Amino acid sequence: MSSHPLSPHNFPDLFDSVEAFLFDCDGVIWKGDELIDGVPQTLDMLRSKGKKLVFVTNNSLKSRRQYAKKFQSLGISVSEDEIFSSSFAAAMYLKVNNFPVEKKIYVIGGEGILEELQLAGYTGLGGPEDGNKTIHLNQNFFVDHDKSVGAVVVGIDPYINYYKLQYGTLCIRENPGCLFIATNRDATGHMTALQEWPGAGCMVAAICGSTQKEPTVVGKPSTFMMDFLLQKFNLSRSKMCMVGDRLDTDILFGQNAGCKTLLVLSGVTTQPALRDPSNNIQPDYYTGKISDMLKFSEA
Ligand code: PLP
Ligand code: CA
Repeated sequence: MSSHPLSPHNFPDLFDSVEAFLFDCDGVIWKGDELIDGVPQTLDMLRSKGKKLVFVTNNSLKSRRQYAKKFQSLGISVSEDEIFSSSFAAAMYLKVNNFPVEKKIYVIGGEGILEELQLAGYTGLGGPEDGNKTIHLNQNFFVDHDKSVGAVVVGIDPYINYYKLQYGTLCIRENPGCLFIATNRDATGHMTALQEWPGAGCMVAAICGSTQKEPTVVGKPSTFMMDFLLQKFNLSRSKMCMVGDRLDTDILFGQNAGCKTLLVLSGVTTQPALRDPSNNIQPDYYTGKISDMLKFSEA
């Protein structure tokens, strides 16, 4: 089924049937560090009409606390409770699965993952700290790994290096019970406003290559975060709308969970890409940017 352009005519159908809007962040709320036009006013309108708002991002570099600060710096008031980042999802996945606190977690990724693990009561190793580890590939060079590592979490890591790949690989290959968790598998991301950069999918693929194992993905489009937030807020899937700019993460995430879906063209997906016959992910609706909702609500 092909998707419908959102219009003043069909907007009330969507609006009236939805209790909660789930917003992807990059490409919907901001692009890198730049706020997208009309976002604060649109979110204010939705809140004033009693809609629950939740923000779901696959970018694991920041913790929920750091994202709340980012929202604030952009002039939007959002509480930590309303934010679901893939860094938080990794920590919650371990918690929900009763991962023992005595075991350690090796992180290929950013501060956000380490902070969320710590807040959940876990000990993380690696992270940005290991970014300056140098290796000397001579006959005597040996990387010793901590045998109490019971999980490896892989996310976007701008400081990826060969040492980290070796450490993560050793943890997974030498301990058959070691969990391999990916925050997300996005191919690219807006690390800066002007350009997309290789995303976590690149780091995750490296560890898949060396271990010949597949990870458990906790970010979009996996339903882990959705199940978690549905339970937390006592929401009903059919009364939720996932708003995102990427078909294979956001829209699929919404569809996998049985929510309504709205694609915005303010991020990575273009209208020709949506219409391309090879694309088999069709949102219920699409529109230019979220402030169109404000425009249509006033029409
Ligand atoms: N991963 C990285 C490294 C990113 O830079 C981005 C976007 O900036 C994403 C993932 C996707 O984030 P979101 O799910 O908010 O679109
Ligand atoms: Ca996005």
